Amino acid sequence: MSKNQNKTGSYSFFNCIEKNFDKAARFISIEKGLLEQIKACNSVYRMHFPVKIGKEIKVIEAYRVQHSHHKLPCKGGIRYSMKVNQDEIMTLAALMTYKCAIVDVPFGGAKGGIKIDPQTISSENIEKITRRYTSELIKKNFIGPGIDVPAPDYGTGEREMSWIFDTFLSLRSGDVDALACVTGKPVSQGGVRGRKEATGLGVFYGIRELCHVKEDMYSVGLDVGLVGKKIIIQGLGNVGYHSASFFHESGAIIIALAEREGAIYNEKGLNVSKVFLHLKNNGSILNFPEAKNIENTEKALELECDILIPAALENVIHKNNANRIKAKIIGEAANGPITPEADEILDKKGVIIVPDIYLNAGGVTVSYFEWLKNLSHVRYGRMEKKFRENVNAEFLKVIETVCKKKISIEEKKMILRGPREIDLVRSGLEDTMINGFHKIRDLKKSLKIENMRTAAFVLSINKIIDSYEKLGIFP
Ligand code: NAD
Repeated sequence: MSKNQNKTGSYSFFNCIEKNFDKAARFISIEKGLLEQIKACNSVYRMHFPVKIGKEIKVIEAYRVQHSHHKLPCKGGIRYSMKVNQDEIMTLAALMTYKCAIVDVPFGGAKGGIKIDPQTISSENIEKITRRYTSELIKKNFIGPGIDVPAPDYGTGEREMSWIFDTFLSLRSGDVDALACVTGKPVSQGGVRGRKEATGLGVFYGIRELCHVKEDMYSVGLDVGLVGKKIIIQGLGNVGYHSASFFHESGAIIIALAEREGAIYNEKGLNVSKVFLHLKNNGSILNFPEAKNIENTEKALELECDILIPAALENVIHKNNANRIKAKIIGEAANGPITPEADEILDKKGVIIVPDIYLNAGGVTVSYFEWLKNLSHVRYGRMEKKFRENVNAEFLKVIETVCKKKISIEEKKMILRGPREIDLVRSGLEDTMINGFHKIRDLKKSLKIENMRTAAFVLSINKIIDSYEKLGIFP
């Protein structure tokens, strides 16, 4: 039994990350105690608070974990789920630290969670719980633009973020930077355009980049490019829906989509927006007219496909189903969807796993852009849009005169356009994901590291060591 396993021989979620960390540590020569410091969670706040729901008082269990203070503020989503527990939130906070380092986002990792099932609670009561949780965080100095900045995660979205902001502002009125206390807010309340779909778009950019590397594609017997690749996605929430939409638009074929209640399958491809509409209207993806139902949702993961994207929850690919997975590429859109035992089985089968600490970093990257926007108090593109359009108009005149060519109205529109906020956010995200991919791949090759996950951890740990050294904490 390894030192990371518990008495029953299985790993806790936090142990899984420690195991991945330890594999990477073999490639780093630094004192053991310093590695232990990077691994440890700096602060764990477990709370219980009462909330009146109907005529009853319910005691709510909740957490906020700050994994690392090597950069401030700390940053990480808040999830609402009955599965929330301390081990899970500590793990997700640790993943945030490694993720931020990979994509050069200057935050320490954090995560929050409330143990509730938002599907069975009215929105009035979710609001009460969210506001009370926020005031508990304020009391203990666990939230603030320079302290710890939450964001959406499983079971939360723009609505919860705007309640958090409103509660913070009401208790800290006069704080000119209050908007930056939380990200993932609606655009009308200081959010940034492009945040909602950022994680899914980042997943798309990361997988697209991999699919353009000839050597990697040939190693798993696939052609270069995304067009025509057969994809299965688990979870049609924020991350899964947006990833699915971007893959579909790019010419990939979404052959199956899996939700809690079951999965749907069509070998020729599913129209993602039609499926989403069907889900909204019927409360279930099942019985979609152009697809076959698969009652056991887990079976969808085992279907023949090129790319599998788990985008729901952790530990969905484990030692009992890993051998049956037929995908050649797995893109970890969710956090921790593959257990360490499954990881080893899939590695032996030659599956390329694009790890969560890189692939789902699009959300925190754009959250960083939102935080910067809030602190600068100005919308992206406001200062340069008109200036760019004027410069472009001058260029256009020169081109038309020199080339003596009439440029069509459509071409003119494209050339004249100055950058809008959404253009800047998306190009910043695309650049981040492309760079991140190649940094991990180059390190994997140069150090002959066995897989992308270990290479991503090596890259991340080295960057964290670098920041500690700059702070003068490590010798
Ligand atoms: P979400 O709540 O919007 O969506 C999750 C979806 O998964 C829901 O539609 C839910 O019904 C479905 N689901 C739950 N159990 C399932 C099961 N057993 N089989 C199939 N589907 C199931 O959550 P999200 O924000 O999309 O987060 C999904 C994952 O991505 C989580 O692991 C989260 O930590 C990770 N993540 C999210 C973000 C973000 O910006 N939201 C960023 C990074 C990572």
